[in-house]
Amino acid sequence: MSENIKRTELNSLGEFALIEKLTKHFKANNQSTKKAIGDDAAVISNADKETVVSTDLFIEGVHFDLSYFPLKHLGYKLVIANISDIYAMNAIPEQITISIAVSNRFSVEALEELYQGIELACENYKIDLVGGDTTSSTKGLIISVTAIGSAKKEQLAYRNGAKVGDVICVTGDLGGAYLGFQVLNREKQIHLENPNIQPDLSKHQYIVSRQLKPEARKKTIQFFHENNIVPTAMIDLSDGLSSDMMHITKQSNVGCRIYDANLPISKEVFDQAIEFNLDPMTCALNGGEDYELLFTINPKDEGMIEMSDIDVSIIGKITAVEDDSVIVTSSNKEYKLIAQGWKA
Ligand code: ADP
Ligand code: MG
Repeated sequence: MSENIKRTELNSLGEFALIEKLTKHFKANNQSTKKAIGDDAAVISNADKETVVSTDLFIEGVHFDLSYFPLKHLGYKLVIANISDIYAMNAIPEQITISIAVSNRFSVEALEELYQGIELACENYKIDLVGGDTTSSTKGLIISVTAIGSAKKEQLAYRNGAKVGDVICVTGDLGGAYLGFQVLNREKQIHLENPNIQPDLSKHQYIVSRQLKPEARKKTIQFFHENNIVPTAMIDLSDGLSSDMMHITKQSNVGCRIYDANLPISKEVFDQAIEFNLDPMTCALNGGEDYELLFTINPKDEGMIEMSDIDVSIIGKITAVEDDSVIVTSSNKEYKLIAQGWKA
């Protein structure tokens, strides 16, 4: 939060004036949005499609730390994290609602910054803010985001559809958001110990942006729809590849073989992991919050995926459940995949 700009106290505005101030610039992007903010409830029309709904709750001090997370970025990221779940169903997000509980520690301007980030995400992903709730909290900031999307019934991709012989794919590269978090946390500690040292994040631009300004994989889903590809199973990477892969194998009752040499790791992630004395592979397998898509496809679709320009790596194969879930190294050693997950 910037200290020397204007500060308007929250209690100087009524609740409705505040909602109006925060939401008046938002434009509707979707035909399915029949009524947005301003009535007792929003109205959405989805004719012949299935409706897909997902909610996330974010608590200050648990899910985000405002000492290094600018509010505009926070607003953007919370929307991304939430709509990424809709894409992971092979559906298109169209509406969101945002509910906030906020203490008088925050100014009207601070909330406007938060909503600027929300608005930018709505513009970039063509989604409509159709409602929410606003209330006070005694201390921290609490934000709940609900995304609503749609897809044809036969397009939906669940976690439980992976079959033996399917090809395992992942978009983008892995571990960046985790290492970005490590860098931000280190700089925060240095700054707390010596307030005269300003963080120099310029060397770490890529990984810091993976943490502060993630994107969701809209283009991948558009590619699937345009080419009539339906992944047999799909999940978005919020907890880390190992742990999210295990959701697919457990729910589909299969095993998997992941080839570590095929895991997409950027140079920035590799170098930063080494600097922190961490194993880049461990960061790629267990780092969370990358919001990439992990999916399995029927081998008949493999050629199409390989030829596409959607930034996908083929990382392994689905096997029988008796064969377990393993990582295979380039020297052909096998390790059992463990869902270590990731805790901030
Ligand atoms: P009610 O008293 O019926 O809950 P509110 O006064 O809380 O109505 O909300 C008025 C309108 O503003 C509704 O359309 C609601 O969805 C919307 N709204 C309230 N808070 C927010 C918010 N934080 N973000 C977006 N829309 C909001
Ligand atoms: Mg209300």
